[in-house]
Amino acid sequence: MRLILFGPPGAGKGTQANKISENYVAAHISTGDMLRSAVKNGTELGTLAKSFMDKGELVPDDVIIGIIKDRIKEQDARKGFMLDGFPRTIAQAEALSGMLQAENESIDTVVSIEVKDEEIIGRILERAKIEGREDDTEDVVKNRLNVYRNQTEPLKAYYQSAGVLAEVDGMGTIDEVFGRIEAVLNKVEQ
Ligand code: AMP
Repeated sequence: MRLILFGPPGAGKGTQANKISENYVAAHISTGDMLRSAVKNGTELGTLAKSFMDKGELVPDDVIIGIIKDRIKEQDARKGFMLDGFPRTIAQAEALSGMLQAENESIDTVVSIEVKDEEIIGRILERAKIEGREDDTEDVVKNRLNVYRNQTEPLKAYYQSAGVLAEVDGMGTIDEVFGRIEAVLNKVEQ
């Protein structure tokens, strides 16, 4: 299965992604995790990415598209993958469609986790305390949310018109939300 896990920052994508990858898909591809590891290792990519991540801005499309292009060619992603944090712009979504079309493949489903803004800010600030993520201060969180609304949310319409969008209520316990996601994925697998 090829799926995109979609939703605002703090919607619980990371937690749900781990549960989905245990049960459904081969490769879990998180661009945020890949960038954080590049930052940690002090690579050229890491240095570039950090300047955007620290402000809650998006890393430039060509950089991210290049990373994904290489990653989805790797062996573990051949049978299927879950994209977590990608695509985040229409340009990224179009590039992804192009890459998949070239291999006669396509995205099976886009699971969009829906959570209200008020809830999101509280959740992210809580996570900042627990994980010590540098990009989780209140101003940066608000900026990431604005960036999400302006640049990323329009992707829902893009995938809706492609007929692959599935909206899932992100309120409730981790298991309740996962149950809703499972219902979507079980339908896709049939
Ligand atoms: P995440 O862990 O998915 O919230 O990503 C953390 C940060 O990494 C984001 O705020 C962006 O600065 C950067 N990032 C991750 N994925 C992408 C992407 N697909 N396009 C641009 N920037 C990204």
